[in-house]
Amino acid sequence: RNNAEKFEFQAEVSRLMDIIINSLYSNKDIFLRELISNASDALDKIRFLSLTDKEVLGEGDTSKLEIQIKLDKEKKILSLRDRGIGMTKEDLIKNLGTIAKSGTSAFVEKMQGSGDLNLIGQFGVGFYSVYLVADYVEVVSKHNEDKQYVWESKADGAFSISEDTWNEPLGRGTEIRLHLRDEAQEYLEEGKLKELVKRYSEFINFPIYIWASKEVDVEVPADGDSSDEEDNAETSSSEEGEDEDDEKSEDDDAEKKPKTKKVKETTYEWELLNDVKAIWLRSSKEVTDEEYTKFYQSLAKDFSDEKPMAWSHFTAEGDVEFKAVLFVPPKAPHDLYDSYYNTNKANLKLYVRRVFISEEFDELLPKYLSFLKGLVDSDTLPLNVSREMLQAHSSLKTIKKKLIRKALDMIPEKSGDDDEKKGQYTKFWNEFGKSIKLGIIEDATNRNRLAKLLRFESTKSDSKLTSLDQYISRMKSGQKDIFYITGTSKEQLEKSPFLERLKKKNYEVIFFTDPVDEYLMQYLMDYEGKQFQNVSKEGLKMGKDSKNKELKESFKELTKWWKGALATNNVDEVKISNRLDNTPCVVVTSKFGWSANMERIMQSQTL
Ligand code: ADP
Ligand code: MG
Repeated sequence: RNNAEKFEFQAEVSRLMDIIINSLYSNKDIFLRELISNASDALDKIRFLSLTDKEVLGEGDTSKLEIQIKLDKEKKILSLRDRGIGMTKEDLIKNLGTIAKSGTSAFVEKMQGSGDLNLIGQFGVGFYSVYLVADYVEVVSKHNEDKQYVWESKADGAFSISEDTWNEPLGRGTEIRLHLRDEAQEYLEEGKLKELVKRYSEFINFPIYIWASKEVDVEVPADGDSSDEEDNAETSSSEEGEDEDDEKSEDDDAEKKPKTKKVKETTYEWELLNDVKAIWLRSSKEVTDEEYTKFYQSLAKDFSDEKPMAWSHFTAEGDVEFKAVLFVPPKAPHDLYDSYYNTNKANLKLYVRRVFISEEFDELLPKYLSFLKGLVDSDTLPLNVSREMLQAHSSLKTIKKKLIRKALDMIPEKSGDDDEKKGQYTKFWNEFGKSIKLGIIEDATNRNRLAKLLRFESTKSDSKLTSLDQYISRMKSGQKDIFYITGTSKEQLEKSPFLERLKKKNYEVIFFTDPVDEYLMQYLMDYEGKQFQNVSKEGLKMGKDSKNKELKESFKELTKWWKGALATNNVDEVKISNRLDNTPCVVVTSKFGWSANMERIMQSQTL
């Protein structure tokens, strides 16, 4: 093409493509799921824009929000077309090659280990899976605000973009043409495609059509002469129009000279492959576990074999009406806590009266619950307003409140003594425990409920996880505070001189070894009326100690001398301690100061 501009793929993207092309991964079907998902996203986008501006949809076929699939056996091309938002020239350059997303290198890294290609969609690079089955791909695209362009690449490190002067105009949307590799010819079989589309499009909210062949019986002239056919047609129509007693004469005609015969002919027509139904509108009693699992998979683009840990499907009624489905994924996504406070982590899809609005509404759930996947469909929110107005809408607060409550109820905590449930909760804790801790920091209203969900090890937990309620049930009589200590590891803490005396006196001490724990304990002041006491800080009280006053008096001179001997700006005070057993002295942090562990964390800026 003489108007083609050449571009190089961004380096990570190029590596990703190499991995895909050379992959021995056997489940190549996944490319179709990724293409359908992209088409559906593009349709969602144009439908959203059309809420405030009907014009964007255009007229005639262009305005139909649908997906079409065609197979060309001769040219060995599988093409998938949508009438979605389309891509401008700049979009094509950025989205399909030059901008690496955060997931690109994460995915490359995974794939170099024992990564599962099936999860490609979760990393935001699903498009490139087309190279599992194609060695040459063309993307024709028309966006309302630009001309029609063709992106094409043979996955040789480069792609080119040309203004499209030779294809049929798309009106609007995108057509992806896969020139299938020799070993991927099965994707030209209609039956295979129908089966795959049905499997992958169960939860796609737009109609998907395939250009399907159909064998039909047609009547052709017995001697197959075309001039005869015309004659025949003429005769029969004149018969119909003129003869009153036509029944009789027709019979006579047929008996005398059968001029036509039936033959099979192949015709093509658009065949609809999915019925567009929304699972969340159905009653939760009617939806099977398997359907929820599949729905989760398509929603979260998580096609691992694991089921979600829990889900909740409910309808809220009253002033604010909405339906919602929430899922706890089986595993935390790779980037859950990356730049946690600086990025939008929203994971819920917002629909208003069945129309997809956005998945970037962080007003729906607090940040710490962003590990949940799901959707909300509201009948109360207005449909034809801008996103900004929606974001400021007063019912969002009510929705958020209800979602938080349902989410916390759903967490499989009710452990009791049931081993299976305990195991489930441990699994949950290992994946998402940090979110619960962040919740205690962020959400003052639900702090106590969240604190119930906390798990940790302690000097008495026997290497198992234990909870605050369990700690309290083991507290010694006369013990007022909940004791804890912070540090880098349990092994390190177990040797701490701060524990000597507590251990000897049989007090239980919680080990907090996660950097976030230091922050956590600045917010979690008390639980069930008990204060928390860091045992490396000033103020440790273990029951009554009557000898203390006496000792203080008799060592007064010594402590005074010590304080003078140490540079005054290094220590605040020198005191007699009741917390030690073998160690002669320790450095203790003042009540309101940073613990030694906090100093260490601040120096390395881990959060
Ligand atoms: P993701 O869908 O997770 O963003 P993909 O690799 O599947 O990642 O797609 C990359 C980007 O390319 C999309 O975000 C979108 O901007 C663009 N894109 C892909 N397919 C289409 C399409 N059919 N219509 C419009 N844009 C598309
Ligand atoms: Mg995609």
